[in-house]
Amino acid sequence: MKPVAIIGGGITGLTTAYQFHKKKIPFHLYESGSRLGGVIETVERDGYLAECGPNTLLETSSEITRLIEGLNLTERRCYADPEMKNRFITRNGRPVSIPLSPIAFFTSSFFSVYTKWRLMIEPFLGRYSGDKEESLADFVKRRLGNEFLDYAINPLVGGVYAGNPEELSVKHGFPKLYALEQKYGSLIRGQINGTRERKRKGTVSKQDVKMMTFDKGLQVLIDAIANRIKEHTDNSTTISRLESDPDGWELFSSTTKESIPRKHSAVLLTAPAFTMAKMEIGTSGDTPLKELSEITYPPVSSVALGFRREDVGHSLNGFGVLNPEKENLNTLGTIFSSSLFPNRAPEGHVLLTSYMGGSRSPDLALKPENEKIDLLLNDLKKLLHVSGKPTFINIRDYEKAIPQYVIGYDRFKNRMDQVEKQQPGLFIAGNCRNGISLSDSIMSGYSSADRIEKSLNETNILKPTGV
Ligand SMILES: Cc1cc2nc3c(=O)[nH]c(=O)nc-3n(C[C@H](O)[C@H](O)[C@H](O)COP(=O)(O)OP(=O)(O)OC[C@H]3O[C@@H](n4cnc5c(N)ncnc54)[C@H](O)[C@@H]3O)c2cc1C
Repeated sequence: MKPVAIIGGGITGLTTAYQFHKKKIPFHLYESGSRLGGVIETVERDGYLAECGPNTLLETSSEITRLIEGLNLTERRCYADPEMKNRFITRNGRPVSIPLSPIAFFTSSFFSVYTKWRLMIEPFLGRYSGDKEESLADFVKRRLGNEFLDYAINPLVGGVYAGNPEELSVKHGFPKLYALEQKYGSLIRGQINGTRERKRKGTVSKQDVKMMTFDKGLQVLIDAIANRIKEHTDNSTTISRLESDPDGWELFSSTTKESIPRKHSAVLLTAPAFTMAKMEIGTSGDTPLKELSEITYPPVSSVALGFRREDVGHSLNGFGVLNPEKENLNTLGTIFSSSLFPNRAPEGHVLLTSYMGGSRSPDLALKPENEKIDLLLNDLKKLLHVSGKPTFINIRDYEKAIPQYVIGYDRFKNRMDQVEKQQPGLFIAGNCRNGISLSDSIMSGYSSADRIEKSLNETNILKPTGV
């Protein structure tokens, strides 16, 4: 049987490949870079262990747990230190621990009396009645007010999406939030009903889901899958053209300028949208996904700095600090990496991972490294009372980091649906289609494996002959 071609060796493509490996469905994975993992990469140097891209994975579903167990990684999984629950948001130039429970919300002085009142009346506000798609900012202002937008949602969206709530679509970027209003008419009522439903079903809410990594960082997950599929992987192979005929799919590599010397039963695209946009699909040289080039991916710099413990005045007793746009700082936020997970810094030292740029200030991410470090140190001095020079520096620039699910994202999703329909045997997955988090990407990899297996069964390709 011809293998399924998986294009892109980030976590989406790797998850699908691992599913096929387990089910003994032939596949071949093509990755343009010299290594697998996509935006995931862990660096170990001078006693520090730093993530270049994502830092944490949320174990949101039993499939993720099964993936870890199947790869024999259970013992190597590290959950975030439960003592480090504090989450800081900068307010008036200093990090303030935000209230995380309803009682703390009403008793703390983080939000004004007006915002507390806004929260109390939220269950009595009706559903959105307008006919225009709403931005996240408009949705939050309407239901919870401006202060909640500026000091809760704006920093959160900067930290998760490197995005701007005025541009992001609540429907596409935050489907669960959108669904709460649609289903219950209120976020608070939805929250209460959701808690009841989860108790009944024995599931946990996203806030209670455990945050994790591995003893040697997220790279452990990549290496574990990569080792199992290495005979079916070609690195340094950029696929630029796909052609199908009754005999299967032929792939062309722009790296070797030649066709790949095997035919494929189906193709899964998991490359970023801006790459899929350039792919020629079919014999006429058409690029049917070209519209995807309009999906914005703002640049982000991820900067991990190590310090001697005595050079950092803050207690670092929490997850990290997020910076609202109103605070006019250079960074989107900083994760207290060595507080969250063990073995991130040598004895007597700490590791802080900060992000710069995003939709809020793309120019900052594009500055030369030394300027970025100076700007970051200014923030860290103000917020965490850092003095002294860093003992470790690791910078990774993502020129196009995270796809932004902005207002009107429907048209990109519709285009992907349409191209799949027009090209039987072609499947599209990844963080521009199924959500941007690592857990979304893993689930996208799982569901792609299921969809492709089903389609191969329907076309009798997987059915044993002569039965
Ligand atoms: C800086 C940063 C921090 C993040 N932090 C977090 C976090 O803490 N937690 C979280 O849940 N999520 C986080 N995310 C998001 C999450 O990491 C990504 O959405 C997810 O890893 C995307 O995986 P993917 O496989 O879909 O795409 P990618 O990782 O982008 O992989 C796509 C792969 O396709 C390859 N490719 C491209 N073109 C071709 C071609 N023509 N032929 C062959 N191969 C090709 C690329 O080289 C790449 O390896 C972060 C993202 C970034 C950038």
